[in-house]
Parts: sequence; structure tokens; C-alpha cells
Amino acid sequence: MVAAVAAGAFAAAAAGQTLQSLGSSDSDGVTPLANATDARASFALGGDTTAGVSELVPAARYTDASAEVQKLNASLRVTQDREARDAAAAKAAAAEASRPKTCLPAHGTFTSGFAARWGAFHYGIDIANSIGTPIYAASDGTVISAGPASGFGLWVRIQLADGTIQVYGHMNTFSVHEGQKVKCGQEIAEIGERGQATGPHLHFEVWQNGTKKIDPRQWLAARGVYV
Ligand SMILES: [Zn+2]
Repeated sequence: MVAAVAAGAFAAAAAGQTLQSLGSSDSDGVTPLANATDARASFALGGDTTAGVSELVPAARYTDASAEVQKLNASLRVTQDREARDAAAAKAAAAEASRPKTCLPAHGTFTSGFAARWGAFHYGIDIANSIGTPIYAASDGTVISAGPASGFGLWVRIQLADGTIQVYGHMNTFSVHEGQKVKCGQEIAEIGERGQATGPHLHFEVWQNGTKKIDPRQWLAARGVYV
């Protein structure tokens, strides 16, 4: 509106000059116009009211409409942004829901089970493969140990939300650290033959409630993963 009034005043000033030139050759006879009210009055005097109004009103309407369009466009962008965020969140939720919650800890050959062996009890399962073969987290969880351990050479232990602890042993290297959150299927280490091992393999244990060592093969099978 300010711009429209200014434009009108400018037009009126020009009209004033015309009146002045028509009315008298004496420049002192007509006072130069200073504001929009005087401008409208001068248009009436000059008989040019229609032209003056037609210049003012469309300019004002155009300015208002443009502001409205900008507001609507801004509102539309907000809505579109929200819809895009909602769609992305729904997609992420669907992906999370369909993601496996139990994963094979390593590809390889099942060579030893949860059983008495060599005069002692073997509290895990062994999956043999070449040194450097990836070892994956079998579940979502938090790494509670990652480093040297007697008999295991190196081990990684992961605790699940329900308290279950998984042990991964004999690895050549590991790539996680204590306190790290891991997801099922995430690579955490590579197969090795450190500690008491007769060849490169993953030794994998499951401790129910964090204490009781149970058969990992059965635990995995109960969750749809077969070694
Ligand atoms: Zn073993």
C-alpha cells in the first residue's frame, strides 16, 4: 500500500504540473502538491478522477494479491515439507520393522557344537572359515567387551536388550569398541585363530540372562537362523 500511495502521489505531482500549466502562466498561482489527499483533490479539479483512481487501485490490489500468493506458497511448502518428513519416517519405520533381528554371525563350516569335547565342555559353536572372513553381530546390542581374553585370544561380547550376552572369540581383528551400539548383521570382526584354536574359526557363545551358557545353535534356530 505504501508503494501504491507513493506512486499515486507521484502521478498527482505530475498532474499538478499539468494543472499549473493550464491554469496560469504564473507559477505562484498553484501550490505544488505534497501528499496523496491533495493529489486526489487536484484530480477532481482537473476532471481526471477516473484516470487517477484507475492508477491507484490496481496497484494496491496487485500488491495485496502478491503477498497472499507468497503466504499461500509458504504455507504449501510447509505442508509439503511435513508430508515429505512423514513419508520418510514411515519408510524408515517400515524398513526397521522388516529388518532381520537375528543374523548369521559368520559364513563357514559348522565344525563343533555345544557339547563335551576333549574331556571338557565346549560352551559354544565353531564356524570355520579362512582368516579375514567377516564376523557379523548376530543381534542388535551393545558391545560390552572388545579386546584380549584368556583362551579366546581376542573376544567381543555383545549384550542384547533382554540381557542375553553373545561371545565372539578367536578373531583376527575387531572393529567395534566397548559401549558401541551394533545392529544385527553389522560387521564387527574378522575370523582368526588366536587363543586356543586349532585353525581359523569363529567361536560363538550365548549366555542366557547374561550368565547361563546355552546352545547357540538352538538359540539361533529358534530365531530362524540355521548354522
Ligand atoms: Zn569353540
